Order: sequence, then C-alpha cells, then structure tokens
Amino acid sequence: MKTNSIYSFITCTVLLFSTSCKDETTKTEHTKTETAMSDNILLQDYTGPYGGVPAFDKMKVDQIQPAVIEGMSQGLKDIEAIANNTEVPTFENTIEAMERAGHGLDNVFTYYGIFSSNMSSPEFREVQSQLAPKLSDYRSKINQNEALFKRVKAVYDASQTNPLPADQQRVTQLVYKGFEMNGAELDAEKKKRYAEINKELSSLYNKFGDNVLHDEENYITYLTKDQLDGLSDGFIKSAAKIATDNGKDGQYAITNTRSSMDPFLTYSTERELRKQVWTNYYSRGDNGDQYDNNTLIAEILKLRRERVKLLGYSNYAEWRLQDRMAKTPANAMGLMEAVWPAAIARVKEEVVDMQDVAGDDLKIQPWDYRFYAEKVRQKKYNLDSDEVKQYLQLDKLTQALFYTAGRLFNYKFTPVKEGKVPVFHEDVKVWEVTDKDSGKAIGLWYLDPFARPGKRSGAWATTYRSHTTFDGPKTVLASNNSNFVKPAPGEAVLVSWDDAETFFHEFGHALHFFSSNVKYPTLNGGVRDYTEFQSQLLERWLSTDEVINQFLVHNKTGKPIPDSLVQKIKKASTFNQGFATTEYLASALMDMKLHLADPENIDIDAFERETLAELNMPSELPMRHRTPHFGHVFSGEGYATAYYGYMWADVLTSDASEAFKNAPDGFYDKAVADKLVKYLFAPRNSIDPAEAFRLFRGRDAKIEALLRDRGFPVPTNN
Ligand SMILES: [Zn+2]
Repeated sequence: MKTNSIYSFITCTVLLFSTSCKDETTKTEHTKTETAMSDNILLQDYTGPYGGVPAFDKMKVDQIQPAVIEGMSQGLKDIEAIANNTEVPTFENTIEAMERAGHGLDNVFTYYGIFSSNMSSPEFREVQSQLAPKLSDYRSKINQNEALFKRVKAVYDASQTNPLPADQQRVTQLVYKGFEMNGAELDAEKKKRYAEINKELSSLYNKFGDNVLHDEENYITYLTKDQLDGLSDGFIKSAAKIATDNGKDGQYAITNTRSSMDPFLTYSTERELRKQVWTNYYSRGDNGDQYDNNTLIAEILKLRRERVKLLGYSNYAEWRLQDRMAKTPANAMGLMEAVWPAAIARVKEEVVDMQDVAGDDLKIQPWDYRFYAEKVRQKKYNLDSDEVKQYLQLDKLTQALFYTAGRLFNYKFTPVKEGKVPVFHEDVKVWEVTDKDSGKAIGLWYLDPFARPGKRSGAWATTYRSHTTFDGPKTVLASNNSNFVKPAPGEAVLVSWDDAETFFHEFGHALHFFSSNVKYPTLNGGVRDYTEFQSQLLERWLSTDEVINQFLVHNKTGKPIPDSLVQKIKKASTFNQGFATTEYLASALMDMKLHLADPENIDIDAFERETLAELNMPSELPMRHRTPHFGHVFSGEGYATAYYGYMWADVLTSDASEAFKNAPDGFYDKAVADKLVKYLFAPRNSIDPAEAFRLFRGRDAKIEALLRDRGFPVPTNN
C-alpha cells in the first residue's frame, strides 16, 4: 500500500487572553489509499506553487459535509488496514503508518477551520452541528479500535525494553498515551458509554459556542451623534461604518465583542452607556433565554466527570494535567494561589488611585475601571494611549515582525504577488518565507488582519500544513488572524499597544510552526501550558530599541516615536497589572475549581458567585471570561482546566526573557537566540518541555521572574 503523509492539526492557538478559542489540537488519523481521490476539491491534495497550497478560491460550504463524510470513510478503511495487518507489529507498520494518515480529511479540516473561524455563516454552523456527532463517532472508532491498540501497545511495550531512536520513541510514547487517556483499555460496556459521552459533549460544545455567538451578534448598542463624547475619530468612523453596514445609517454601532467593548469602556464619558455596553458583554450566554449557557455548563461538567471516572480518575483536572508541564492540579493551583494575593492587593491600590481621580461622589464600578485607569495612566505616566497609537501602524508592525524573525531565525519574508496563491478573502495577504542565507524554502505566511461579520473575535494562529520530514520535507503553511478594525478608505491602520503585542504574540506561534524540525507529525503537537510560552516570549521584541527606532514611526509625519514617550511606555508597563492579572486569574481559578467540584446538582450561577466571594474577588472588576461565555473551556476541551497555562507559560517567558536581558547583546544576542531556536522552538514536542527549558536555561524556570515582570513584590524567603 502506498502511504502518503499525514495527520492533521487544527491548531488554533489564541493569544494571550484573547476571547474564545475553539481549538484543541484535533488530530485526525487515516491513511490514504491508492485509489483515485474524490472529485470533491476539499479532499484533494493541494496543488500549485510552493509545494501545493489550499484551494481557498474554490471552496464552498456545501462541499464540507460530503468531504468530511468521505474523508472519514477513507480514514477508517486505512485504520482497518493497519489494525488487521498480519505482520508482527513494528514502529514502521503501525506507528509510522498511522502518522502517514489523514491526507484527505486533513485537507478538509483546513477549509473547515476557515469556515468555522474566518468565514462563519448560519449555513456552516448548521453543517458543523450535523457533523459534530459524526466526527465524535469517527474518533471513537479509532480510539477504541482494539486490534489497532493491541498493535500500538505491542510496539510501545517492546520500546520499553529495546528503546527506539529518540524521535520514534517519543512518537510511540505519545501515541500510546493518547490511546490510554482516551479509553482504549476500557471493557466493551465502558467503551460504549465513553463514546456516547463524547458524542453528547461534542454537540453541547457546539451549542455553547453558538449561544455565545448569538449574544455577540444580537446585542449591538447603537449610538446617536450626541453620545460620542471621548471616543476617537478612528473609532467613531468605524462605528459609523458598521452601523451603515447593518442598515442603521447615521448611527454608530458598538458591537458586543472585546475589540469594540474595550475601547468604548476606556474612552466614553457616557457612564450609563458604559454600563449598558459592559452589561451586554459580560452577560453573553447568561441572559436567561434559550441561548443561556448555565444548564449546558452543568451538563458538560457532569459528563466530563463521568467520562474520566470510567478511566479511574477522580476528576477531569487530574486526568487532563497528567501529560502537561504542570502534571497535577495541585501544581497549577499552587502557581495561581502564589500570585493571587499580590494581584488583588494591587487592585486595591489601583482603585485608590482611580477613586482619587473620580472623586467621592462616584464609587468605581466595573464599567468605570477601564475609563478611570486610563485617566490615572495619563495622570501618573502622562501616557495617552491614543498618542501611542499614532506610532503603531499595522504595515510597519508587520515589517517589525519580519525584522525580528530575520534577526532571531534568519528568515526572509517576501510578498507573494496577488493572485499567485488563492486566498479566501480579498483582505488576506501572503508572504513567502525563506532562509536569508541559503534561500531554502520555509513556507508561506498568510495574514487575515481585519474584523468582519462571521469572523470570530480575538486573534489566533493556525497551520494549513506543518513541517515533517519522514516522507520528504514539507514546507509550512501558517496563518495569523486578527480583528483589527478596518479603517475608512485612505486611513492608516492604527492599533493599540496591547494589539501590537498581540500581533507579535500570534506571530510567535507562526514562528514556532515555521521553525519545526521534527520528523513525525505527532511531534508537532502542542502541550497546552507550554505552547503559549513561545508566543508570549516573542511579544518582548516589540519594545526592543531596534524595533522601536525603525518601525514605530508616526503615521502622518514619519518621525520615530520620541524617546520620552518610549520611556513612559516602559515605565507604565506594569501599570494596571492588578486589573490584568486579577481578571485573568479569576477565570483561570474558576476553570480549575469548576472541574474539581462535585458536578452533581451544581448551580453554575451560584458556584461562580460563591467562589468569587471565597477568593475575595474585588467588586470593581469582573472575571476576564465569565463562566457562561468561557469558550476556552466550554466550546471545546482545548483549554478546559488549562486556562492556567497562560500564566504557567508566562513564568517560562519571564525567566527566558531575563536570559536575554542579561546577555551581552540583549534581545538580539546571537548565542542566546541560537539556543532559543534550537531548544525551545524547533523541537516542538519532540523533547519533554521541562527538559527543553533546562537545556536552554541550565535550570528550571523561577516564579520570581514573573513577579518582577508584573511589578509585584518578590518574597525574600524563597
Ligand atoms: Zn497564543
């Protein structure tokens, strides 16, 4: 049987704290047979330049369902062929054969991901909800294939006495562990129940996501001309355009998404309107109507608990964390609880500062926090976010990314002529990535920068093809996706400092994809509390002198950002860390506590309230993601009991960043950069992450670096 590479990943890695990520690394396994491929374009191999590229210009929603169904049936046939092989199980005829699977379905999922995240529509959502249980069945059929598991186990057992070459040993271990964690060793009756639970969950996840989306689309606040006080011209222009697009010409639309809510709450002087916009946003999925997620969440928690109990675990978190860097819920909680007191203590100080500005007649409420924080920022640091924005142009920032990648990774980015590579929307741009010296092809970088209806909020990175070498080298097709507000024609795209950091962050994920040196697809997989590290670290290059001096130039005058303003930004970098750390940690703690609690008769609303009270959550701010719209955790399993992972990774980030700070040439130190690429980017999951960090740093990461970074006091007794 001719086998052909594959495995597919829908790796949606979402940015530091960005909204919901449906992602979870979904791996579909299947082997391609020699028979002719389907005439469904979505199943076909990529064709055209650069080792083949997805046919984004030809895809249609109505091709998805038949393509997935046909892809699954091909996949199962191939899995059967591996399972029923009569030869003695070997790495090659079992593990490697599985690695070589999923070509057709792998391709389909590239398009599926676009329709799901970038181009969603009611039509697609219908298809998605029909496919969810079928895909769940498909995965169960593979995970529960006894003959297949027997062969995997035979290879694994043999490898314990006669180790394979390092990368084969690691793939074998990961594949075996995956089976074990997904119920391969259960008896028939338990297996049946296990599969039923997964099927039910997959529908609940979709429903959860749909409900949030419904509330995002249906709670738009329309303003009149006299309600715009405090808002910037750029914001007003785009709000007018969105209103016009929605058939409300002459009004101004504040959409129910973070990118609209956040600037509105920061700048609008209309307190009642701030309250309304705040309430809409933080009530998503919690409006007591048919789109309310509370009972759905209870159902999800119960099913998750039941499922891991079948495997002998006492709770979901314990099961989930065993192959993460943190290893146990206690380790993850330990980190969060070590930082929490410093975070809420800082909130108290921030509120005092804000209360000073607001005066005695106004008590700071959650819809006032951003507004008065901005006032304090201006007073304390004389730093005006809108002034900073004038120096943050999307085009220049894109060049800054390329510069950074050039210095650290030796990559060169060249724009691909329009029309040469198909794109799914006219806003999407593509660059060719090559090695600066050798000219060797690394891959293509797709950028989909702007918000539009049907595109989910936040920012994320994906691959359309990952690097592997076991069947000949494959170049990487990676994408970054953001929700910058598209400017009125002729205006520069100006972004906030936070958005600029996010832009660097997502690019960090892309560089992690591009730099992969692994042989087998499984080794590209992410470890949830580790995969945010590479991206978070890359954010640090935004504020290096090299980037500041070359790329942060005024959009009208072209003059570089004045040093005085840069100094202010640096001085203000720990500003509002009470708010940022507390809103994040409240969500991360909630995620963990929800999964450690007894789900029987759980009342989500009460649980959230009581847990926050126990934590002494300050009343002046909400959780970053309230439970009813916590998509990271409930629209899939990607971040379930894993939201802590951002902070876990940030400990690594702070510590690694100190390694650069202390190096002779700082953030562009050649020796440290080489080690960074060699140990922390290129190996992806082919080395245990804790071991990889030790190779880079000579020791484990220390939490003190994170505390220093956030401007929190560092305890002296450890
Ligand atoms: Zn990320």
